[in-house]
Amino acid sequence: MTSTAPVVTRFAPSPTGNLHVGNIRTALHNWLLAKKHGGRFLLRIDDTDAARSREDYVEAIRADLAWLGLHPDGEERQSLRFALYEEAFQRLAGEGRVYRCYETAQELDLKRKILLGRGLPPIYDRSALHLTEADHAAKEAASERPHWRFKLDHDSPITWDDGIRGPQHFDPRQISDPVVRRADGSWLYMLPSAIDDVAMGITDVLRGEDHVSNTAAQVQMFAALGANPPRFAHGALLTGAEGKLSKRLGSLGVADLREAGIEPEALVALLARLGTSDPVDPALDADALAASFDLSRFGRAPARFDDTELHRVNAAIVHHLPFARVRHLLPEGMGEAAWDAIRPNLAHIGEAADWWSVVTGPVAAPEQDAETRTFLHTAAQVAAGLDWADPWPALTQTLKDATGRKGKALFLPLRQALTGMDHGPDMKALLPLIDRAEAVRRLSA
Ligand code: GLU
Repeated sequence: MTSTAPVVTRFAPSPTGNLHVGNIRTALHNWLLAKKHGGRFLLRIDDTDAARSREDYVEAIRADLAWLGLHPDGEERQSLRFALYEEAFQRLAGEGRVYRCYETAQELDLKRKILLGRGLPPIYDRSALHLTEADHAAKEAASERPHWRFKLDHDSPITWDDGIRGPQHFDPRQISDPVVRRADGSWLYMLPSAIDDVAMGITDVLRGEDHVSNTAAQVQMFAALGANPPRFAHGALLTGAEGKLSKRLGSLGVADLREAGIEPEALVALLARLGTSDPVDPALDADALAASFDLSRFGRAPARFDDTELHRVNAAIVHHLPFARVRHLLPEGMGEAAWDAIRPNLAHIGEAADWWSVVTGPVAAPEQDAETRTFLHTAAQVAAGLDWADPWPALTQTLKDATGRKGKALFLPLRQALTGMDHGPDMKALLPLIDRAEAVRRLSA
């Protein structure tokens, strides 16, 4: 691959469950890298496992990516590509790069235990390589069907320059020949993935560090397929605030996040930067995040993901969202001025409705002492005579001059009478949203 090849990335989920935060992060990183280079981001549905793959999960994956704004530039499905795998497989079989094995799961388990008991790494002993054609014929006659392993080349050391982990070296003798095909003919993940990465022209594979040992074997599969491997980068896994990512946090899916009032922009802003020392910047949209996406900023230490931070970023994002983005989520009648006035007070868009009902009323104001009631009556009279385009500065200045009240004694009773609350949006922005007659009524109540 030359460095001028256009960047093509892929997100390759298995549709055996809903996407969780970790997958979403992988999808995002692949999307960001492709966008940064003006390249293409492909979705590949890894549904070779017919028993565990489900169509509703395929649809949920597409819907989740759409919600996140990560629109694929193309989609492939492994279950429609079996002919391609068969062809490559037959070639590899002809070259002796895949070989037939008959050990049962129990036999393999026993072999592993014996090796571990001797303090040796549990590497497959390749005994199936010593079977003769007569042995195979006898197995076949006894209706034993083989599964297939890819034969690693023990004489070529495995190396790649990982975009996040730096130079990687593996001794192929320390790795078991991976099983690539089951006895029933079905495919395991490893080989179809490498075949597809070649066929789809994938230039960059970004995935979690739980795939590092797969990459070691796949590097040799690319060579066996006559192709150069893509560039690889393996991101550190996510952890929770206190060590390991909790099951709950780790399994959070788009539906849970939506329900918690998390906006896609917040997830994108956080997951684009988590694992780097760069700050999360709620002002950056996905394109800006793509432009500044840089694998070399990612560290090898686990990236800390926690709820508190997600909600903090979400609030900061909500404070930036333009009216056009949220209008369909707001209560009837709530316009742009109201959104702009209210959004700095929101943790979630859903809370806008609460503040809008403060604007439209009725509100229940706290009891006030006699002197404050007099003050509020004066306020009602002043308000009745004000131009309502920007009433708050005039109202407070007039009252300050007339009553000598200032600071909290001036502002708090007005806020309480007008909103029923002790805190909330800036009154200068909020008051003009409240109908003048209604404001006067609240002040004189
Ligand atoms: N289907 C694999 C997974 O979900 C894909 C891994 C890869 O990116 O190659 O783990």
